[in-house]
Amino acid sequence: MVETLRQDGISGPHDFAPAVALKDEIRRHIWLSMGRDPAKPNRHACFMGLAYSVRDRLIDRWIRTQRSQYDTLSKRVYFLSLEFLPGRFLMNYLISLQMVEEARQAVEEMGFDLDELEEEEWDAGLGNGGLGRLASCYMDSLACLDYPAYGYGIRYDYGIFHQTIENGWQREQCDNWARKGTPWEIRRGEYLTPVRFYGRTEIYTDAAGRECFRWVDGEVVMAMACDILVPGFGDQFVTNMRLWRAKSSREFNLDEFNQGDYIGAVEAKVQSETISSVLYPSDEMEQGRELRLKQQYFFVAATLADIVRRYQKLNRDFSEFSDFVAIQLNDTHPAIAIPELMRLLMDEEGLSWKKAWSVCEKTFAYTNHTVLPEALETWPVDLLRRLLPRHTDIIFEINRRFLEGLKSPRSKDDGLAGRVSLIAEGVGQRVRMAHLAIVGSHTVNGVAALHSRILKKDLFRDFNTIFPGRLTNVTNGITPRRWLAQANPALSRLINDAIGSEWITNLEQLRKLEPLAEDADFRRRWIKTKRDNKKRLARYILRKIGLGVDPDTLFSVQVKRIHEYKRQLLNVLHVITLYHRIRANPDAPVVPRTVIFAGKAAPAYHQAKRIIKLINAVAAKTNSDPDIQGKLRVLFLPNYCVSQAEKIIPAADLSEQISTAGMEASGTGNMKMSLNGALTIGTLDGANVEIMEEVGKENIFIFGLTADEVVALRGSGYRPRDYYDSDAELRQVLDSIIRGDFSPDEPLLFAPIVETLLQQGDYYMLLADYRAYVNTQEAVGKLFLDRNEWAKKSILNTARMGKFSSDRSVKEYADRIWNLKPLPEIG
Ligand SMILES: *Cc1c(COP(=O)(O)O)cnc(C)c1O
Repeated sequence: MVETLRQDGISGPHDFAPAVALKDEIRRHIWLSMGRDPAKPNRHACFMGLAYSVRDRLIDRWIRTQRSQYDTLSKRVYFLSLEFLPGRFLMNYLISLQMVEEARQAVEEMGFDLDELEEEEWDAGLGNGGLGRLASCYMDSLACLDYPAYGYGIRYDYGIFHQTIENGWQREQCDNWARKGTPWEIRRGEYLTPVRFYGRTEIYTDAAGRECFRWVDGEVVMAMACDILVPGFGDQFVTNMRLWRAKSSREFNLDEFNQGDYIGAVEAKVQSETISSVLYPSDEMEQGRELRLKQQYFFVAATLADIVRRYQKLNRDFSEFSDFVAIQLNDTHPAIAIPELMRLLMDEEGLSWKKAWSVCEKTFAYTNHTVLPEALETWPVDLLRRLLPRHTDIIFEINRRFLEGLKSPRSKDDGLAGRVSLIAEGVGQRVRMAHLAIVGSHTVNGVAALHSRILKKDLFRDFNTIFPGRLTNVTNGITPRRWLAQANPALSRLINDAIGSEWITNLEQLRKLEPLAEDADFRRRWIKTKRDNKKRLARYILRKIGLGVDPDTLFSVQVKRIHEYKRQLLNVLHVITLYHRIRANPDAPVVPRTVIFAGKAAPAYHQAKRIIKLINAVAAKTNSDPDIQGKLRVLFLPNYCVSQAEKIIPAADLSEQISTAGMEASGTGNMKMSLNGALTIGTLDGANVEIMEEVGKENIFIFGLTADEVVALRGSGYRPRDYYDSDAELRQVLDSIIRGDFSPDEPLLFAPIVETLLQQGDYYMLLADYRAYVNTQEAVGKLFLDRNEWAKKSILNTARMGKFSSDRSVKEYADRIWNLKPLPEIG
């Protein structure tokens, strides 16, 4: 599909013979790499053969990219993230290598369809949602822009759980994503890094008579590197994510061995490998589990050892470290990297505290992703001290010096030290990881303008005073390669025909579509493309859940993690409102809608799981009611993941982005849908604010309280009851839920949901926004009837999304935070 986009074919001494040879290569891999008969491969074998052939090409470019990085001594950025959510790789690689059509033809000649082969690949879900997906979009942009960059994380055996729906409830199944083997990872079994846990700090005197510290005893786990390649688009640049797997260390515990418990010793070793076994499945909170902290330190320690090893090859003094190394902390999950670098520099490299600290401050930067209090990470000091005794001492010393520095005459604020301390005092002391990350970084950023403003004036207000200029904003972005070129080939073709294909690497080029909003013929083709995508999604829905949907209805889409602050429940209240209206007035004209939900709830998040059950209960009632037929369909698609997002998003008419203002840091789903021509109905929250600025107020449906109004209303005593009492339609909706209309066998099933609204203060202020939301939805319906007006706005949404390319985000990080230059042309 993209071959036609660029005329400059790939050439050079290292390149592989084109077209004809690919089929032979696939066969050769089926035969020699997989040990199967190439004469009659099945679909999986063909997928693997193609995958290995693609991998060969990537490895060649990768090695040349690495060489080039060493030759130029360029500064590198290390992107540390506990989560990456890459999804499938095959099509992304084929597009980057510009060999989609070549591959299609080769597999066709072998009797397979490329789109079916694509479905053979298991979605790599090594992240929960937005945060992990952002990391993957940034990896794509870093590679496309030729930045010397590496992603670092954990190679989980089990990614985000597989969600099924049983009787309307979410069920979790483990996601053994690599059980059939994954062709993409390059395992470096020969290269292992030791990581220590537990033990104690020992004081000794070195040869020069200085008092020194070292961390001894405890147990050692080995980290094995697995590299996954990340190619740029249409050029030679290939970088990698290095994901660590835990492997038992080779030494046996001699005490146990001497006692003859050989098997016991081996078992203990094997047990240590559980560190990298499973991704924690909560996206906005993680209670202090020891294994989670072990995961964090495990990947951080292995990563820093790798970084320092690479730096030492340069033979330079550590005072120059930050001229060659930038480390980005994706949220606080890797914040233990700060004391770890201090430990390495002082205990292993002999730097003084002052020198080591100066290196840290110039090296680290931290991205905050949330203001939700329950999502701000803290760790009990007791646990930390047991697991990482030396780091705990270092954290306390960082804190002591930091608080000492505050005691300047300017500060008369008695509460300040307590508020900004790295240690929260309470029933037991806890370490505030965000404070550690802020104090140890030169730059701290939020992920959308509104979010960063809230950080400065609210959550991190004190730090903004103590470290003026340290807090900044970099608005999130998404990669146009995956979220338009790959996910929406039909729309990509239409755009290419109209304005060429430069948008793939320069999304601002989409502006050239603006005048075409007035072109009737272009609009007709735009509408047809959307309809084709909706038909494609309708087939998928039928296959997955056996429900037929009409592609001519308005597809309203809310797909994201299920969380109360994201307010899927508000969407449900609107659906029930429509249901009541249709029932009450069956002959009145309505704009037929298909309301699509998808998303996973954290397994321990009971309220979120009940909301999934409610969605399914409302869907069951609505979809089976003959009075409603053809007017309203509601559905929940199980197991939302990247590859499913790629099917849903191109088919969305309406993008539901309705979080309580001030609570969604940015959102990226909002960008994906707008880029694919959906109109947004949303609150002034996260990046919605900037999407409105870009597309224009007249091309987006904004409703509800602003972030400031939410704070003010909460301060002045919010009374959700008042809305219930004064709005008859809202009352009818809530009453019908309480009455058990959607759970006749178990009338009280959904009472806890209504209770949070009416009795427990409606923290997320659904009732305050209900009327504005319902009325705005009416305006949406009205506009949808005017297909031409809708199409104009749809085109303008796509045309004006240039800002939200992750290429722009990554350039901002490189220029303003990392001081990083792209690598020169690779030979
Ligand atoms: C983009 C994406 C998200 C984030 O969606 P939001 O609407 O920004 O919360 C979550 N999960 C997947 C699979 C995604 O692709």
